[in-house]
Amino acid sequence: MLKAKIAEIFCSIQGEGLYLGQKQIFIRFAGCNLLCDYCDEPKALQSGKFPAQSFGQVIKKIKSLQKKENPEAVSLTGGEPLLQAAFMEKLLPMIKNTGLQIHLETNAVLVEELKRIAKMTDVIAADIKFPSSTGNSFWTEHEKFLKIAPKKTFVKLVVTNKTKAAEIKKAFSMVKKVYSKIPVFLQPVTEKGEIKKPGKEFFDRVEKISSNMEMKYKILPQQHPLWGIK
Ligand code: SF4
Repeated sequence: MLKAKIAEIFCSIQGEGLYLGQKQIFIRFAGCNLLCDYCDEPKALQSGKFPAQSFGQVIKKIKSLQKKENPEAVSLTGGEPLLQAAFMEKLLPMIKNTGLQIHLETNAVLVEELKRIAKMTDVIAADIKFPSSTGNSFWTEHEKFLKIAPKKTFVKLVVTNKTKAAEIKKAFSMVKKVYSKIPVFLQPVTEKGEIKKPGKEFFDRVEKISSNMEMKYKILPQQHPLWGIK
């Protein structure tokens, strides 16, 4: 029987992006296809560490949290949830039956996997990954991904002191080309060890780029470390 590697299922408050402050059930799928230098969920990357869970186990937990906590949505997060698209294809109709909205948090490179489940998602939080953070370029994949993502998609750009202004320009151009009204969030990285936020000079350059391109964006750091919750 089809099962999924899931690191944890818990209820909390969304701490990033367009649905900031919304109470959600988070299903953290284990394993990832990338290795971002700023990854804040390194434990979830090791899928071998977690026992495989069945549809029944996952739905039971969701229903129990729904009853106890009264959340608005289920957030599929990771790791990279789309690596387990076959499982999600069968799980998402079951989640729909609970009446909860379905949000997908993804690194936005697995285009074929998204096609399998896109219609069942209500919201997609699509991270654009920069070569300066992953060591690889995913511009083509990101563009294809955004083209098939549902209308209620927003884009998140995590920026560090290594992010180049040219990468922001490229991301803005891509978003404008696909659908200029996609909300864009610039997320200064949560600092850890050698991973640092960019300085004022970087944000001044971004501001200049955005005015030249008539591109709207918001700056919003992760809030859950500030609130002291996960
Ligand atoms: S895509 Fe997300 S989970 Fe995967 S390595 Fe990057 S930050 Fe971590």
